[in-house]
Amino acid sequence: MAQNSSCRKRPNILITGTPGTGKTTTAAALAEVMELHHINVGGFANEENLTNGWDDTFDSYYINEDLVCNALENLMEDGGNIVDHHACDFFPECCFDRVVVLQTDSSVLYDRFTKRGYSDHKLASNTECQIFQVLLEEVKENYPDDIVIILRSDSLEDIAKNVETLTSWISNWSPVV
Ligand code: ADP
Ligand code: MN
Repeated sequence: MAQNSSCRKRPNILITGTPGTGKTTTAAALAEVMELHHINVGGFANEENLTNGWDDTFDSYYINEDLVCNALENLMEDGGNIVDHHACDFFPECCFDRVVVLQTDSSVLYDRFTKRGYSDHKLASNTECQIFQVLLEEVKENYPDDIVIILRSDSLEDIAKNVETLTSWISNWSPVV
């Protein structure tokens, strides 16, 4: 994997991907193993009241992206954060030393959504989001290739493997002085 170019003592990692691909599960496991700070952006925005009202079609709050970025600025400067979110275009590029895109086979993902009891609209829209690789495109448009890593997240074994891969990368990370 390519090395970083930031001077943070510990790296910041963004874990992104279609809803249901395992971002929160992966981020929480990685944060625990490496003693990093896990920021689930949706949850953080709700707790800190950084939202813009309720989105009926997706049964979730709209987050206020500017307020979220401002609120995260100091934390991100310190480094050592695993940020978990299903969009990535509103974070400043320099926030992250590594951007991880989780990918799940669309039929596996469809089954996960069914188990979660999603509405038909949410089910269709999130499955399409994976089929059309929306997050991967968004990442490619916003971050340099050499910090992007695409990881498969079809099974629990994949999650364990991905946590191991990222743990090893973080362990080998050293700031540019
Ligand atoms: P996200 O944060 O991307 O929406 P979550 O981590 O909340 O995804 O996972 C959503 C659901 O799918 C959870 O029930 C989780 O256990 C399951 N899941 C996620 N990734 C995997 C995987 N790679 N293998 C099996 N189950 C998974
Ligand atoms: Mn999540």
